[in-house]
Amino acid sequence: MVAVRSAQKIMTTRRLYYDDAFLREFDAEVISSEPAVHGDGRRVWEVVLDATAFYPTSGGQPHDVGRLDDAEVLDVRDEGEDIVHVVDRDFEPGRAHGCISWPRRLDHMQQHTGQHLLSAILLERFGLPTVSFHLGREVSTIDVRGGEPAETILEGAERAANEIVFDDRPVTIRYGTAEKLAQLGVRKEVERSGILRAIEIEGVDLQPCGGTHVKRTAQIGMILVRQCSRIRQDWRVEFVCGRRAERVARVDSRLLRGVAKRLNCAADDVVAAADRAVCERDAHFKSAKLSLQRLAEADAKLTLQEQAPDVHGLRMVTRVFQEDVQPEYLSQLSTALAKAEGTVALLARIPCGNLIFAQHPSAGKDMDATLQKVLEQFGGKGGGARDAARGKLNDAARGGEALDFAKSLLG
Ligand SMILES: [Zn+2]
Repeated sequence: MVAVRSAQKIMTTRRLYYDDAFLREFDAEVISSEPAVHGDGRRVWEVVLDATAFYPTSGGQPHDVGRLDDAEVLDVRDEGEDIVHVVDRDFEPGRAHGCISWPRRLDHMQQHTGQHLLSAILLERFGLPTVSFHLGREVSTIDVRGGEPAETILEGAERAANEIVFDDRPVTIRYGTAEKLAQLGVRKEVERSGILRAIEIEGVDLQPCGGTHVKRTAQIGMILVRQCSRIRQDWRVEFVCGRRAERVARVDSRLLRGVAKRLNCAADDVVAAADRAVCERDAHFKSAKLSLQRLAEADAKLTLQEQAPDVHGLRMVTRVFQEDVQPEYLSQLSTALAKAEGTVALLARIPCGNLIFAQHPSAGKDMDATLQKVLEQFGGKGGGARDAARGKLNDAARGGEALDFAKSLLG
């Protein structure tokens, strides 16, 4: 059935969630059903009802999902007067039964009401107004404007918000003109005219809002502020409420116990133990580097003793390494060899195809030019200067051949 929605423009979808955000099922009249193409390319229908409990994406809160009769509700959009339900089958005129996926909606209401509370406290107690809100799949965020919220502020806001949760205060819906709401304490400028909807958390907050909220603060569940980071000129505060808080607390605890086990310490000591481990790692790294350098120097000394310069005072050392030698060793050995007068070092490492050519300036060759000719012949990339150049062969196994070729060029 395809009705032309424009002919039905006088209809306005009644938003059942405005007065009862805990309504999970409802019956309504199908006003129109039009074919469309979903974002993923799927054929879908856009259905408008005379009333709905499905919340459309708006005000930072994502849409509900669920079923309309036996059709799946994939998306819900707010189009001014109408609420459009994107479903996976066509509808005839008549009654339809809607059923909202409750775990998702309750989760959204916990995060959203938690946001009202957290924003109110950050403003009232710490002078940080909220400029935007995003309810994400894993965490929710509010962007606040002002000075950087210190850890003590974030902790203070979290504690104060949870106090209100423990107080189990009522969360009520108020209606009134902008003027009336301003008298009641709404400080936000509202551009819309007529009767507005506002949400009151007793003694804490009164905000114009068209979203869905829990009935009492205890239903928000625990509020956990996760972290705060700079975002353009504002501060992005990440938080989780309710079931999400339960989940992240459990994951945090499991991670902490895992790290403590690896570090062989108590959970309370992980930071100190991690500091020690990092210090030890850095010290070992330094000492290994120094040992490698000493080894390269001894290796160079021995090599130079064994191989005397030729009649022209030139000494060409070639060496092909396998994987038992670290790549850094080539660079250290080439440096040590090139300290000796008239010496040219041509080194390769087979597993990676690395080449290092280096010379003492008195040898009078051009390492970069030699490397370029080798790379032209064997394929690869690299570069450098007259006294030192490094490259990488496309075919790592040809390191030995490449050195022979380089030697023939310099000989
Ligand atoms: Zn709200």
